[in-house]
Amino acid sequence: MTSSQPASNSEAVADLYDTFSEFHARINDSNLHVGYWQNADDTSTFQEATERLTGLMIERLAPQAGQRVLDIGCGIGKPALRLASGHPVDVVGVTVSPRQIELATARAIESELADRVRFELADAQQLPYPDASFDAGWFFESLIHMPDKPRAVAEAARVLRRGATLAVADMFHEPGKDWSEIHPLVTAVTLDTYEPLLAKAGFEVLEVTDVTPHIRVPEPVRGQLRTMMLEHREEWVDIAGEEVVRAMLDPEVDTFYTPGLGYVLLTARRR
Ligand code: SAH
Repeated sequence: MTSSQPASNSEAVADLYDTFSEFHARINDSNLHVGYWQNADDTSTFQEATERLTGLMIERLAPQAGQRVLDIGCGIGKPALRLASGHPVDVVGVTVSPRQIELATARAIESELADRVRFELADAQQLPYPDASFDAGWFFESLIHMPDKPRAVAEAARVLRRGATLAVADMFHEPGKDWSEIHPLVTAVTLDTYEPLLAKAGFEVLEVTDVTPHIRVPEPVRGQLRTMMLEHREEWVDIAGEEVVRAMLDPEVDTFYTPGLGYVLLTARRR
């Protein structure tokens, strides 16, 4: 291994998000997760649809006043800040990307929520927090990057107190498809993996909902997204490379739909 190669999956994920988070934040001020559309005729924008998914996660978390919530894989902080702006809770968000910490912290200060929301550099597979120190938590489209999912979920179980709620939003793949071949930093599993994964770590799984049809971007919204991508084409090429961008914008390819890729929402309780 040369020194320019990341030493581990977590470092590679950190590099990935360090590189593109700022661009993403600037072009669409976005959540780093998929959107949720009611049906194929729903013309909600990408921003509205991603906020709707955050709303579904907050509903599942059902946060109570004064609770401490752990956001495992916090991105640039948008879901955590939405959670704290609507509920009197404290939130700690962790990510492996130092750039995300900077961006998320700046947003917390800007939103005047820095007294209740803070972002820290930590690997979900080895959390720097004492046992039973949080009342609730979520993995919001982050488990997909973690190769050692049993360890990440066991760490969540360790830092959550008994009775705490854990919400999960994640991509999964249908049996027979292997996403790691599509992207080396995605380690998706099949839908039936989640319940035993969580149960083994000490969670009671309360709900597993396959929301795959809802993440499919409706036709009119695809046009909007394509236009936005085109407006930022050059900058995007600098980050992702010409080949990737050309493939994403190929009108023959349905960029916004990956056959065999599903999406699940889960709610669990720490036993
Ligand atoms: N939950 C955020 C971000 C999702 S993107 C949102 O919905 O907007 C995935 C996030 O998971 C990134 O912030 C990435 O850095 C984080 N992540 C991936 N692997 C991680 C790990 N091992 N430990 C901590 N965070 C991780």
